[in-house]
Amino acid sequence: MSARAYFDWNATAPLRDEARAALVAALDAAGAASSVHSEGRAARALVEKARGQVADLVGAEAKEVVFISGATEANALALTPELVALGRQVACDRLLVSAIEHASVLSGGRFAADKIERLPVTADGVVDLGALRAALAKGGRPLVSVMHANNETGVIQPIAEIAAIVHAAGGFLHVDAAQTAGRIACDMMALGADMLTLSSHKMGGPQGAGALIMRGAQPATPLIKGGGQERGFRAGTENVAAIAGFGAAAAAAAATYEAAGDRMASLRDRFETLLKLTSPDVVIFGAAVPRLPNTTCFAVPGLKAETAVISFDLNGVAVSSGSACSSGKVTASHVLAAMGADPALSAGAVRVSLGWTTTEPDIDRLLIAWKRVAAALLKRQAHAA
Ligand code: PMP
Repeated sequence: MSARAYFDWNATAPLRDEARAALVAALDAAGAASSVHSEGRAARALVEKARGQVADLVGAEAKEVVFISGATEANALALTPELVALGRQVACDRLLVSAIEHASVLSGGRFAADKIERLPVTADGVVDLGALRAALAKGGRPLVSVMHANNETGVIQPIAEIAAIVHAAGGFLHVDAAQTAGRIACDMMALGADMLTLSSHKMGGPQGAGALIMRGAQPATPLIKGGGQERGFRAGTENVAAIAGFGAAAAAAAATYEAAGDRMASLRDRFETLLKLTSPDVVIFGAAVPRLPNTTCFAVPGLKAETAVISFDLNGVAVSSGSACSSGKVTASHVLAAMGADPALSAGAVRVSLGWTTTEPDIDRLLIAWKRVAAALLKRQAHAA
């Protein structure tokens, strides 16, 4: 059994070997990808190879891919009222986002605060399609942003159905696929998205790279102006090494995600079965609907997520709190709140996310750690009673 077990793949995945090799090799590319000399053309070739690899992963064309610093920036670029569709400029006067989106989508990009509306989700964490239809019936030209799968619960959204509803109302659809690309089937055409956000580090590429794939619509103006890199959508010298690593990760993920997903689902399901035996009062969020094969988000009454995460860590296991946890500060999860979860219960939500190298002994270690966390909780509760 290895010294530690890592179960926070939805925060970031370890670098794949293929990505490391491509990244290290590209660090020695001497040129800037926009230069015309041989060195520049060599760097350009690395970027274009990666563009093809990323495009292939999601069934897009290479020319639809814009490289950018990550999913956060891709979301910020996509969410703008001024779009170009079918060669014509269109102005969106409303932004509809689901209540469970990542903070970078909830913030609404370049839309004014009073133009942003939140769509509710069901108790299972699925976007409420009735509420979407009702919101669209109010008219205007909406841009809608719904994530492919949620990072906290793993719940997969019915994107193709949402795309059909949005398009029938004359709107555009942006999909944040940071958690799905390279993990489950994520095909631009099947999803029906006009714009799709990807993150390199969630699929085993380096951090600090991502892509916005643009098909049915594209932002009329860039976020960062300056040089004409990335067809003018993202000024600044390309991060050639990170992009090369991203491309290699995308290619490796495309070749292996199906088998890896089946393996992770059986490990995750085994964990959940034993979790329910150990803690019969456990609540597993989103368990009744389709979820990512690698994610489980659960809570037992009385648990405090911060304490649990630290106890897991002391037992050699890295998990995360189900609450949004950035800059080390734990706040109530907006995702679980939107699902109508009891705040006292969701304060103890723990997120366990597996990856392609997770093993059965890792799951055993996780279960041993959980038994200790649960026993300590029972002891505290007995003491307090
Ligand atoms: N969207 C989702 C759904 C995410 O899970 C994350 C990462 N937590 C992001 C966007 C941001 O990704 P990046 O780190 O590449 O900016």
